[in-house]
Amino acid sequence: MKVIEPHIHMIARTTQDYERMARMHTVACCEPAFWAGYDRTSAQAFYDYFTHITKFEPTRAAQYLIQHYAWICINPKEADNLALAREVIAFIPEFLDKPTVLGIGEIGLNRNTRNEMAVFQEQVELALARDQLIWIHTPHLKDKLNGTRMMLDYLKGRGGVDPERVCFDHAEEHTLGMIRNAGFWAAMTIYPITKNSPGRVVDALEVWGIDHMLVDASGDWGPSDPGTLHDAIFEMRRRGHPEPRIETVFYNNPCYFLGQCPKFKPAPLLPREKAWAGAARTRNPA
Ligand SMILES: [Zn+2]
Repeated sequence: MKVIEPHIHMIARTTQDYERMARMHTVACCEPAFWAGYDRTSAQAFYDYFTHITKFEPTRAAQYLIQHYAWICINPKEADNLALAREVIAFIPEFLDKPTVLGIGEIGLNRNTRNEMAVFQEQVELALARDQLIWIHTPHLKDKLNGTRMMLDYLKGRGGVDPERVCFDHAEEHTLGMIRNAGFWAAMTIYPITKNSPGRVVDALEVWGIDHMLVDASGDWGPSDPGTLHDAIFEMRRRGHPEPRIETVFYNNPCYFLGQCPKFKPAPLLPREKAWAGAARTRNPA
């Protein structure tokens, strides 16, 4: 079975992780622009970072036959400085034209501040003006519910935003309903210690069904492991989910969402109506 990792920060990982992912049949991975482990002191540092994730990482991944894609933006963790954020936004279009860039992301909120919201909105406008897909970071822990609601309300209220072209990441039990009910894609992130575990992610797939759902392992600077994605695959098998359903979650679904950008090469094995038919909720939402 082929696997796509929709969200991973390979800049924070060793080459051995590419090797492990290749052994676990990962054929493509996507790197949203985010924090680099430290706050950058100039717009130029972002320029260099965007160059790294659009040039060096695709080359490093290709050694393991993995296609590496990127998303470009000023991330919410460093978006509170409006002047710096706008300097960065000014050169984002240059990177959107790179052959492996799928869209604007991961934009969103961190502490739900007014400046973060302004930078989020400006980048949504950039995405819409340039017909780009959008990948959204929802805040962690206590700010998640509010932050997710703020961004959903904004996108619904603005009008002209096609929810099929937007994915809300780091969704959890308490935010999945509002994201799915509004028609957006939802991604769930597995972490080995904090937040979503493989078991919780599979529970959520059983409650909400598999359509418009993505799963990622978010390898980054903290305790995280690309292998947890494969632990979730094993957990679905252990619970007796049929192989085509598992393949749809971990391969076809990323193809359906990411494939809306013509630069994304992996092709789904089935049309989505067929892959999603009969694979709806297996439990009733509480
Ligand atoms: Zn991330």
